[in-house]
Amino acid sequence: MSDAAPQRLDPGSTIGILGDGQLGRMIALAAAKLGYRCHTFADTPDSPAAQVCAASTLADYRDTAALDRFAEAVDVVTLEFENVPEESVRYLAGRVPVRPGPSVLAVAQDRMLEKNFLNGIGIATAPYAHVTDLPSLEAAVARIGRPAVLKTAKFGYDGKGQVTIGPETDLAAAFAETKTDHAVLEGWVDYALEISVIVGRGLDGAMAAYVPVENRHVNHILDTTIAPAGIAPGIAARAGEIARKAAEALNVVGLLAVEMFVTLDGEVLVNEIAPRPHNSGHWTIDACDVSQFQQLVRAICGLPLGSTERHSDAEMKNLIGDEVLQWPALLAEPGARLHLYGKTAIRPGRKMGHVTRLRPRSNPA
Ligand code: AMP
Repeated sequence: MSDAAPQRLDPGSTIGILGDGQLGRMIALAAAKLGYRCHTFADTPDSPAAQVCAASTLADYRDTAALDRFAEAVDVVTLEFENVPEESVRYLAGRVPVRPGPSVLAVAQDRMLEKNFLNGIGIATAPYAHVTDLPSLEAAVARIGRPAVLKTAKFGYDGKGQVTIGPETDLAAAFAETKTDHAVLEGWVDYALEISVIVGRGLDGAMAAYVPVENRHVNHILDTTIAPAGIAPGIAARAGEIARKAAEALNVVGLLAVEMFVTLDGEVLVNEIAPRPHNSGHWTIDACDVSQFQQLVRAICGLPLGSTERHSDAEMKNLIGDEVLQWPALLAEPGARLHLYGKTAIRPGRKMGHVTRLRPRSNPA
């Protein structure tokens, strides 16, 4: 039925969220501010999102009876987590509007489809090749050269499922480590910095992008986001154009986050895309007129998009693992905006919260 349904879902409607992490939690908090209810669907109990939602379904993503009940209970579905099975999202899309839709998810879930899509619309990525077995890895390394990165095509995140191929790396061992016959070899990008752009796109096709931000990673996990990125205006404009072009070509209704490398010679290459709120957009809660989370709610409910203007510059620091134990000091720090995700177990590498510090707004926009 999808968009044959009434276009605008007014406050009081229920938003279904596939996934139950901190992104779902922050979607639900933003939705509540506008008078919407949220209902999560996920397979773990007492999740960060379920703690703040009006309702939650605890079931396997492939449980069609549970998906049926969920579809009955909500007015629109969005996702906060990309590794939801595509078939489950297609199943739901036959029953209730799903925004962004399953075809967007299919592209974002698979690094091969993603790179083919981007290059197909003229957006540059690192050189890449499909790897299905050892001979195809050997051929890919011969063509692309070393260093390179071998990544599982599906279900990887935060650097999981990645092997760096250096000058000495044994290819058979590297291939065995990925444990898949569907992987991508990417040429190594000597980047000056990593940036991202988050663009919102409404039901009517209107788009609004946030300013490009710089992302600094530690152990493959986002550590700090600096908004705005310290890049030349021409590069910022190019990054914004890339994000809009990808969102339009995918017909996204919701958000598209586009992670990019800025190379030493000023080229912009896309690393990956995510059709959901993104960790690099958390700063927008405290520094923008409308946060990425409220923008998502607006887009999927058919409301006008809000302003992406920032009133302040910002630095967002993730609180990873034990870093969350700093919360009393952060709470006492004037101006520090602390966000905790309600996760009880601290584990190394686990995102437990974040803190945003604002600075007076710089120019240009
Ligand atoms: P990904 O899971 O693809 O986002 O990769 C995680 C991180 O690994 C990126 O944010 C980069 O810091 C690094 N990385 C990934 N791919 C490459 C590449 N082709 N060249 C250099 N660094 C990379």
